Amino acid sequence: MAQDKKRDVYLVIGGNGFLGRHIVQQLQERGDIVSAFDIVERYNDVTFYAGDITDQNSVASALRKSGATCVIHTASPLPGSKDVTIFHRVNVKGTEAVIAACVECSIRKLVFTSSAGVIFNGEDIINADERQPFPEVPMDAYNETKSQAETLVLEANGKGGLLTVALRPAGIFGPLDRQAISSFAKVFLDGKTHFQIGDNTNLFDWTYVGNVAHAHLLAADKLETPAPAPALSTLSELPVSTDD
Ligand code: NAD
Repeated sequence: MAQDKKRDVYLVIGGNGFLGRHIVQQLQERGDIVSAFDIVERYNDVTFYAGDITDQNSVASALRKSGATCVIHTASPLPGSKDVTIFHRVNVKGTEAVIAACVECSIRKLVFTSSAGVIFNGEDIINADERQPFPEVPMDAYNETKSQAETLVLEANGKGGLLTVALRPAGIFGPLDRQAISSFAKVFLDGKTHFQIGDNTNLFDWTYVGNVAHAHLLAADKLETPAPAPALSTLSELPVSTDD
């Protein structure tokens, strides 16, 4: 059976945020059909659905109206949010609602933006990959709920034919950033630049937002049902090498 090469139609959840906006723009630039779903409206050059991910009906309605086949879910409260209950509500319950809406609407693909922070416990981490376990004691409510959301997304793989993947970016920088540079500037403006933590040799991963957005497009593109293995009858027709 030939693999379905039909182009996806995208709904970017959190599509008016820093990373989400870059994903929307890259999809537009390559000629894909894309809509944005968010609690805030910021742009008028993309079909926009206003809604909160904790409301499954609202997500399902946007999925139906947009004709989406692929959901890219980037929505999350910012790590510094003062009301810690918001992390569980949006990251865990909201992601649960997104998954349920995807299954309800027979969505093919769900790409989730997790965070490198899900494996951080305050100790140095060198050359970690996806096999690194979550720490027993998570850093904070943001990272704990991002790891719970990631687990929910990965466990939903195969549910009703849904294919899922999660990406874990580290720090993201670039145009439209509302978090990193303003935090650095605040440290400077508050006169806190004479404090040093560690011996000044620590490293931290940063990735340009355009590259993180591109990774999401690649993840969506590669998220296909594996081609079935060739039938035995086909194998027997393959040319047999006569070389010793
Ligand atoms: P952002 O705040 O700019 O974007 C998030 C978007 O989600 C916002 O537009 C916000 O309005 C929307 N949103 C929040 N709650 C919502 C809800 N309940 N329903 C619908 N929309 C909602 O943040 P960002 O920096 O673009 O982060 C995007 C994703 O990347 C997040 O999942 C974050 O955890 C992850 N991440 C970010 C960084 C970073 O350095 N910025 C690093 C690692 C992971």
